[in-house]
Amino acid sequence: MTQRIVLASGNKGKLKEFNEILQQFSVDVLPQSHFNVSDADETGLTFVENAIIKARHACEITGLPALADDSGLEVDALQGAPGIYSARFAGPGKGDQDNNRKLLDALKETPDAERTARYRCVLVFMRHAKDPMPLICQGTLEGRIGHMPRGENGFGYDPLFLVDAMEKTAAELTPDIKHQISHRGQAVQMFLQQISGYLKNPV
Ligand code: IMP
Repeated sequence: MTQRIVLASGNKGKLKEFNEILQQFSVDVLPQSHFNVSDADETGLTFVENAIIKARHACEITGLPALADDSGLEVDALQGAPGIYSARFAGPGKGDQDNNRKLLDALKETPDAERTARYRCVLVFMRHAKDPMPLICQGTLEGRIGHMPRGENGFGYDPLFLVDAMEKTAAELTPDIKHQISHRGQAVQMFLQQISGYLKNPV
């Protein structure tokens, strides 16, 4: 039977990627906007806390199991910033271009060898709002921050994120290739491997 799951995200780029990755499986992933669920306040200090906050909020309002992710970019020369603040790096109401500009500015004195970074994704699945043991999956993608934006695909920091072992930014990869290697793709693979056993567990 097809399992209905709410995706606790209002980020259109992520929603598109999740639907592309999950379309081959018998889960029906519905965006939280379908149920008029507002964005939860991301008040946690870790990716894990924020993903749980978002999933629990969607479970509470819809009564359905919920999947939430929290993800971000960790830049080593910036001691892991922007990290959990990646979406709001340039301040409230600012967009991807402002975030990218702020990142380039923060790294303008940083030599190539020290521009290492990674994307991180934590995916949380909760069977219901009081689930005492959420399923937690994660993935990372290693890379470096370039000096100018390149590529039209993806979203967020992708035009600046040079993927290790590829001469390309994440925005120059096709969606298929990005999902195969990305932090989100890896977290989703872990989720798919564990979800059926997890749903059988009594809560
Ligand atoms: P969240 O919605 O709080 O998880 O914020 C995630 C933010 O991290 C996004 O808005 C982007 O700025 C950044 N981010 C996460 N994953 C990616 C990715 O795959 N490409 C580019 N930026 C990403």
